[in-house]
Amino acid sequence: MVDTIKGIYSQYVAVYNDEFRNKLIREQAITDSMENALAEKQFMVYFQPKNNLADDSMVGAEALVRWIHPVWGFVSPIEFIPLFEKNGFIRRLDGYVWDFVCSKLREWIDKGYKVVPVSVNVSRADIYQPFLVDYFRDLIEKYNIDPSMLHLEITESAYKENPEQIIKTVEELRQYGFIIEMDDFGSGYSSLNMLGKMLLDILKLDMQFIRNEMAKPVECSILIDIVNMAHRLHLGVVAEGVETEEQKERLKSVDCDYAQGYYYSRPVPVNEYEHMLIINGHTV
Ligand code: C2E
Ligand code: CA
Ligand code: CA
Repeated sequence: MVDTIKGIYSQYVAVYNDEFRNKLIREQAITDSMENALAEKQFMVYFQPKNNLADDSMVGAEALVRWIHPVWGFVSPIEFIPLFEKNGFIRRLDGYVWDFVCSKLREWIDKGYKVVPVSVNVSRADIYQPFLVDYFRDLIEKYNIDPSMLHLEITESAYKENPEQIIKTVEELRQYGFIIEMDDFGSGYSSLNMLGKMLLDILKLDMQFIRNEMAKPVECSILIDIVNMAHRLHLGVVAEGVETEEQKERLKSVDCDYAQGYYYSRPVPVNEYEHMLIINGHTV
């Protein structure tokens, strides 16, 4: 009896150790490869359209990074982004993504496309950098693009860490003309009280939050109240992770403005997105 328990116990510990050890090994391998990956352009920027729910027209896109490693293949951002946030590399990677997006916007404008704004993710590690506002200003001056073409997505959870600092940075960015989106709204960090204090432009509803609300009977759901509140504060509302016609119709019925998700398109490589710009009638 004791032996059996002992056996199970030791096995349990072995599994736990293996998992933990493998995780550390994987993290170390990622850390060892990241510099080289950036230099060798293994990081690719994909684009996912945002559409207007009223008429399905494409009104913007989000830039999402992809890592295609020569040996490991596709590495999910869910795996490497949190690690890069911890070790600081995210600042370099985000700088690369932002530069790439601005260079593409310039190229598309030069080609005569009627471009739509692109959102980039601004990590919590970026937002507290002292020269962030100057960095963005230099970037759009370098490529001579209007600041309103660049939307900055800041995750809801970043707001609770240092609200005063973030309010100040967001204010400066908005004064300069950048459009600020609060990402992952409703994902559990409840920044409802921040909303009144801070000037923002767009509320981006978290995918899981929307799903939870939609699973409730209509009369119990607060989806419509959140959208109404956002509109009262003059914020646009984007729903993320919209996959089905049913979800789309429900969001339309609560007056949500825009949607992003597989229903419209998956994130696509830059050449495919360029094609979308053209066929969507965004040509001169
Ligand atoms: P996020 O900013 O919330 O991005 C939305 C995620 O939802 C993306 O995952 C996107 O591919 C996925 N998605 C879009 N539509 C649907 C849908 O209809 N159904 C489902 N199930 N998923 C959908 P992805 O690309 O794996 O990125 C995960 C997270 O990694 C992002 O979440 C963002 O926080 C972070 N991330 C991605 N690219 C960057 C980047 O360039 N910089 C920074 N700082 N973070 C990034
Ligand atoms: Ca985002
Ligand atoms: Ca999000």
